[in-house]
Amino acid sequence: MEEVRSGGGAASAGKPNAFTRRVMVGDVAVGGAAPCAVQSMLNEAADDAAANLAQIERLAEAGCEIVRMAIPRASCLDAFEAVCKASPLPVVADIHFSADIAIEAARRGAAKLRINPGNIGGLAETDRVIAAACEAHIPIRIGVNAGSLDSDLAAREDLSLPEKLARSAADYVKHFEEQGFYDIVVSAKAHDVMTTVQTYRILAAEIPEVPLHIGITEAGTLFQGIIKSASGLGILLEQGIGDTLRISLTDDPVEEVRACWTLLAALDLRRRSPEIISCPTCGRCEVDLIALAKEVEGRLRSVAVPAKVAVMGCVVNGPGEAADADIGVACGKGSGVIFAQGKTLRKVEEGAIVDALMEEIGKL
Ligand code: SF4
Repeated sequence: MEEVRSGGGAASAGKPNAFTRRVMVGDVAVGGAAPCAVQSMLNEAADDAAANLAQIERLAEAGCEIVRMAIPRASCLDAFEAVCKASPLPVVADIHFSADIAIEAARRGAAKLRINPGNIGGLAETDRVIAAACEAHIPIRIGVNAGSLDSDLAAREDLSLPEKLARSAADYVKHFEEQGFYDIVVSAKAHDVMTTVQTYRILAAEIPEVPLHIGITEAGTLFQGIIKSASGLGILLEQGIGDTLRISLTDDPVEEVRACWTLLAALDLRRRSPEIISCPTCGRCEVDLIALAKEVEGRLRSVAVPAKVAVMGCVVNGPGEAADADIGVACGKGSGVIFAQGKTLRKVEEGAIVDALMEEIGKL
């Protein structure tokens, strides 16, 4: 079950993504009025089909909708093909430096290709990849980055880095469209939050019809990576910019998917699983609320119900502060009062609080 409040963004100050073209990645729509799609990238060995398929299962369970797999060598193409055949999610082929590998990936079941025309070997090689994508009826993500900008563009002193990145991406889009290829998604990520935000703002203004894949690249380990990604992508999504997102973390990719969904829910764009409203605790709290909230969070991970669940340390502010929660508990000394939308249901002992909450959530 999933609750969708709007498309990829609220479209307050930026580009509403309803104006972008819709691109299909397997059976997942990206762009147009489609909800912002959640994606991640596999990090098992690229020649190990079984390990990658096991990771895809875990990602799918966490709510991942599109998965990307690197193909660093031609010898990994057999594993890629096996993954595409068995994967419940559409698989994007991520290729650098070799048009031949990209062409072969398109033939072997890729749902989308991700290339950087700046390192695939020039426009003639890019055109060979475009022809293969056309033949396979799959889209291409043009992913540019600061490290592979055209040398003339990189040397220009009259343009800022965001302007250079956006110009590079827009020039490639123009080239693709001149070849008659419109099934395009664009990304232009940087590891710096504000460079990324400025780049995407320019892209949204200059190529408003092209769906954008947003993310902060190389954002870091779990804590820093989530904060950097949420701050940058939050700004973009609030402005209606972003048709699909990846939160890049130096961690288990399942954490990337959890972070994406938590961000989308925080912005009231999409909700897949319960959101926890929990108080920070203070001197009034007479239970181990931190442990309690963590246990509730863990048990709710497998629950695909878009509910709000409150875990509050006392009755003083409990039900009142969390009156909009679907289910909640306000703790007292060794006990908790279970409530729903501000109304008391029953009182339970501290040890029975989590089970009581789960029982009520099961009724939603
Ligand atoms: S809900 Fe109660 S325990 Fe929690 S922070 Fe507020 S006053 Fe303190």
